[in-house]
Amino acid sequence: MTARLDEKLEPIFQDVLRRNPGEVEFHQAVHEVLETLGPVLVKHPEFAERKIIQRICEPERQIIFRVPWQDDNGEIHINRAFRVEFNSALGPYKGGMRFHPSVYLGIIKFLGFEQIFKNALTGLPIGGGKGGSDFDPKGRSDAEIMRFCQSLMTELYRHIGEYTDVPAGDIGVGGREIGYLFGQYKRITNRYESGVLTGKGLSYGGSRARTEATGYGTVFFTQEMLKARGDSLEGKTVVVSGSGNVAIYAIEKAHELGAKVIACSDSSGIIVHESGIDLDTVKRIKEVERRRISAYTEFHKDAKYVEAGNIWSVPCDVALPCATQNELNGTDAATLVKNGCIAVAEGANMPTTPEGIQIFQSAGLAYGPGKAANAGGVSTSALEMQQNASRDSWSFDFTQKRLEEIMINIHRDCFETAEEFGAPGNYVLGANITGFIKVARAMDAMGLI
Ligand code: NDP
Repeated sequence: MTARLDEKLEPIFQDVLRRNPGEVEFHQAVHEVLETLGPVLVKHPEFAERKIIQRICEPERQIIFRVPWQDDNGEIHINRAFRVEFNSALGPYKGGMRFHPSVYLGIIKFLGFEQIFKNALTGLPIGGGKGGSDFDPKGRSDAEIMRFCQSLMTELYRHIGEYTDVPAGDIGVGGREIGYLFGQYKRITNRYESGVLTGKGLSYGGSRARTEATGYGTVFFTQEMLKARGDSLEGKTVVVSGSGNVAIYAIEKAHELGAKVIACSDSSGIIVHESGIDLDTVKRIKEVERRRISAYTEFHKDAKYVEAGNIWSVPCDVALPCATQNELNGTDAATLVKNGCIAVAEGANMPTTPEGIQIFQSAGLAYGPGKAANAGGVSTSALEMQQNASRDSWSFDFTQKRLEEIMINIHRDCFETAEEFGAPGNYVLGANITGFIKVARAMDAMGLI
């Protein structure tokens, strides 16, 4: 954590540290928001008087539970799962489920905290929550994934609902997992409650363009940042980290808008393909065969695979971190700036460390934080809930148009708020303040909650 906090905010942060020991990612996410809220308290002293920030930093409810399951050899495994229902001032808790061995309460709380402000930015009626498990889906059969999902839902079902808490996907949770989770929810409750989960398959209440939404939205946001500087994505060289859901559709939209993506990665290594990443190959490897990205070179002999390579050392005009938290540090940021990068938009949540953010901001490049840049995913989840509520199903083009409008509005709100608070071009400040004020006003109107 780099910047100093306002004197009113420092004690609040110290209290967060004391009450949540060892949860370093949560501390980082809270610090990043508090760094920008000083000017809001000057304009709105009532938020300080009524301790709105202290209340927002404390989740409304945290659920931790055991998930026992059996593998294909009959061996028993015990995982731990979480659902943090952070803030419901604007609507039912909304946020994905993450399956990754690194998951613990601190990761879920950082993601849930970010989600409050992100969801507020979308302008749609959704509160903030997040969940997940330390289950590692890598190398597991479909049957094992199904048994795990069914066991998890056997506890989770009692805490969620279309008016209460609506989970979706995140790292390690895609269409397959949502299908198993929804099937078990339906079975236990004996209700076809479509709006209880989003990211569903099209044949059972899913929304067109939801799969693509986070990646597409990140690229729409990038395009808006460049437009604000009189530029565009046309002809730009782009580097995208990861090769999962967000990365794949960021690559697809970047190509559609005339850019050339030359590198992507997974947690084992990076692929550099100077003539442009062939997305059909990536989709085949990752979405169908579920293999490592290194397999890409079997199909493209002119591409290079670097085991444990650093994707940020590949020179580019635009960088889109779409893998995981803290994947881009101060050294990486300095390398990107030195190599002439002009824009960074975060498809992942909190992928840039505080040192990295500071370097981007002092270099004056266009930097779009995840809260704003990757809000397209949850926005389209909210559109899925709308379709479920009205028993309707919209076309791909109509849904994508709505997504694009939402991203344009988020960009405009962040941009204008940054100007209003005397920090033009600072999308971090713009996103945090816009999101915070919406939630704070709603909480204030509802009395002491
Ligand atoms: P996926 O599981 O589909 O893909 C994740 C990708 O990131 C994989 O390529 C994975 O590689 C890589 N990755 C994961 N962990 C690490 C790590 N520790 N080090 C290096 N690479 C890693 O997840 P998503 O694409 O859904 O999510 C990616 C990011 O986007 C996350 O930060 C998520 O929170 C965020 N996000 C996702 C949304 C969504 O709608 N899905 C919405 C908003 C944000 P490997 O396969 O080797 O693990």
